[in-house]
Amino acid sequence: MTHAQTAPTDLCEALPPGRVSKIVQIHPTLNCNLCCKHCYSSSTPGAKQGLELDPILRFLEQAVPLGYNVVSLSGGEPFLYPHLRALAETAKQLGYYTSVTTNAMLLPAVSKRAILPLFDLVAVSIDGREAEHNDMRNNPNAFTKCSKASRR
Ligand code: SF4
Repeated sequence: MTHAQTAPTDLCEALPPGRVSKIVQIHPTLNCNLCCKHCYSSSTPGAKQGLELDPILRFLEQAVPLGYNVVSLSGGEPFLYPHLRALAETAKQLGYYTSVTTNAMLLPAVSKRAILPLFDLVAVSIDGREAEHNDMRNNPNAFTKCSKASRR
């Protein structure tokens, strides 16, 4: 799903003072390496189909003259989206501030692909202390993997 929204956000602290933030929120895939109890998008490891890249890029081009200046990516796990690099590169070329929300478990592998510098903000979602997080995430190793990856 791709849609635009206008809202104040803490994500934009790095934007110039006084700059109005108009956000394009994109969920490019419902594919995820986790299957959390609370997932509002019903993302799952079985959801392989993601959005086509070209319509997203056209949308981003058309949104610039309308004043949109932030692209926020979530999912699903955005780092499983096969066109993430092209999407982030184009967003930066168009002048967008870029953010991505991740469960962090894939960050060690992602770091080797040098894709992180394409994002101004990498947000990691955590659901509580280790036991609570693992329970919500349906994975006994989720907290440990997330913590290790986030410290890199
Ligand atoms: S990590 Fe996020 S997108 Fe993936 S299943 Fe959990 S809540 Fe859903």
